[in-house]
Amino acid sequence: MSKQNKRFYIKTYGCQMNDYDSAKLEALLLKHGYSRAEEPEDADYIIANTCSVRKSAEDRAFAFLSTQKPLRKKGTKICLLGCMANLYGPDLLKKHRFLDIVCGPNNYKDLPEILEKGGRQSFTGDCADPFLEVFHPPDSSLSACITVTKGCENFCSYCVVPFTRGKLASRPPETILKEIEWLSEKGVREITLLGQNVNEYGRGTETDFSSLLEKVQSIGGITRIGFTTSHPKDIPEKLIGLFKTMPRLYKHLHLPMQSGSDRILALMNRKYTLEKYMRIVDKAREAFQDINITSDIIVGYPGEKKSDFDETCRAIEKISFDDLFVFKYSNRPGTPASMMKETVSSDEKENRHKTILSIQDSISLSRNERYLGKKLPVFMRSASGKKKGFLVGRTITNKPVLIKSGGENLGLVMTAEITKAFRRYLAGVLCDVNRQEKVSSPSRGQN
Ligand code: SF4
Repeated sequence: MSKQNKRFYIKTYGCQMNDYDSAKLEALLLKHGYSRAEEPEDADYIIANTCSVRKSAEDRAFAFLSTQKPLRKKGTKICLLGCMANLYGPDLLKKHRFLDIVCGPNNYKDLPEILEKGGRQSFTGDCADPFLEVFHPPDSSLSACITVTKGCENFCSYCVVPFTRGKLASRPPETILKEIEWLSEKGVREITLLGQNVNEYGRGTETDFSSLLEKVQSIGGITRIGFTTSHPKDIPEKLIGLFKTMPRLYKHLHLPMQSGSDRILALMNRKYTLEKYMRIVDKAREAFQDINITSDIIVGYPGEKKSDFDETCRAIEKISFDDLFVFKYSNRPGTPASMMKETVSSDEKENRHKTILSIQDSISLSRNERYLGKKLPVFMRSASGKKKGFLVGRTITNKPVLIKSGGENLGLVMTAEITKAFRRYLAGVLCDVNRQEKVSSPSRGQN
């Protein structure tokens, strides 16, 4: 069978970066004459793009691939891609006879040749240029994510990313801007720039992340710009200042705190203290008073005492985050934390997890209630998946707003009055008199 007739099926686990990589892989394979299968049974290559950040994500990916084993009898190849490939390497082929291809994130460029060659093969490790320069149409017609850096050399004690994604590499600004211009022509209006730590974009070169953001804003048609993630250890003042000066930048800072205890932050090798973290929050609020600040917290890190946990709870209350992602510590092989004795039982991790969620529930609700009665510009971003006849917009602080509206308003920035506030979203009504012009050409649509 020629490769023109060969079909692939990709299942993705993990973060936005993996979603982005899978979309790029798909575009690459389509470009090389492969076609997409809707179901694994119809595919010649079943691909799992895996995540190693938590053991549960690994288990789910592995369970999926294992259940595809019987399909190998008819010649289907089973391919394990992504972070697990780099973390466990060629040993995966030795241990699991049903795997045909193991390929890490920095080797995706070679995937068409790897598939073409056939046989059982493993390709893992670092490479100087890990970016796949193939454009892929966005999933949603209005929003797209763009990876600007790959890899990380920060070695937070609990994290596998430095082992799975390798050294920091920054994608050249020219190719990023070219891709965004292409997406804008396709109708995309919202861009999210992704990196493990965007602050380090362009390290060792003339450019930096703030300059990149300013260039993205100058691309016609792009109405909203977001980014994630920024590490508290090295967030530049210049970047914080952009919340004041860049009109189309979402006033949303995702700033992972991880713990409110300096002792635990030091054990985690995070390179900042709670005091430094709080100073950044103050500065961000000086730049834009109502900025949406979200964070990540890990509970049950090895050595986390009740007193450390209490410090984290107090910090959460004092900072008053808009929202939090709370994770129970998961031991990852090869990390410095994996050498430490786990001191917090599963039950206690569960309790601490629940406690923080319940603290955050009331903070998030009261943060959202501050929007009640306000008339705000809202970017009409997508149709509601749950409520027919409604769209979900975003305030400039990146808060979702449920609004009764027809699809003809998608892509507009419109003024809405906020009428209800919930834990995770707002609801509002359109103020028709203030309706703004649809962004339909690259030279219009400032906001
Ligand atoms: S900054 Fe720390 S947590 Fe983030 S990817 Fe790098 S090592 Fe992991």
